[in-house]
Amino acid sequence: MNPSREKPLLIGVLSLQGAFREHCRALEKAGAEARQVRRRRELQGLAGLIIPGGESTTIGKLMVSYHLLEPVRELVAAGMPVFGTCAGLVMLARAVVEGDQPLLGLMDIEARRNAFGRQVKSFEADVDVPLLGKELFHGVFIRAPWIESAGAGVEVLAEHSGHAIAARQGNLLVTAFHPELTEDLRLHRLFLKMVRQV
Ligand code: GLN
Repeated sequence: MNPSREKPLLIGVLSLQGAFREHCRALEKAGAEARQVRRRRELQGLAGLIIPGGESTTIGKLMVSYHLLEPVRELVAAGMPVFGTCAGLVMLARAVVEGDQPLLGLMDIEARRNAFGRQVKSFEADVDVPLLGKELFHGVFIRAPWIESAGAGVEVLAEHSGHAIAARQGNLLVTAFHPELTEDLRLHRLFLKMVRQV
């Protein structure tokens, strides 16, 4: 792709809380235009949306008070792709194990929060994501969830210690780790490819 010839895609990054600046930076490096989204009107005209890591209970409560849950659900129903990382994975899940918190509930997965244990809050591990090629992806896990169960329509893209940690279903992409905290743009590029194919 020659970015100078193609109009950059406008991607929103939900910026209520969490690692949104890093996602904006990664998107720009991957040749897209990033827009921080806090208000409903800022969803207008987006080709795709990223929900960053942070604290899913906080992001969920803020999405309720900013009246963002329903508009995002409607845009996804109309075909807008969404990429959720870490807390963003939790927000996209249909349900959380042993929990009750506001969710978008768009992806047929059940997420277990802080799944890798209280002792091991954060760790880094090289993850095999066959869809991205042979080179392993350096996964930064910060109190990360895993995908406890997934419906038949969900394609698991990567596992770590026997648990699904990246997946795709239709226009939805999720990772339990934080690709925006590395210099590896392959997942952002994969998301931009999904956006271009809509
Ligand atoms: N533990 C957080 C949650 O469940 C996610 C952590 C993160 O996004 N880095 O919301």
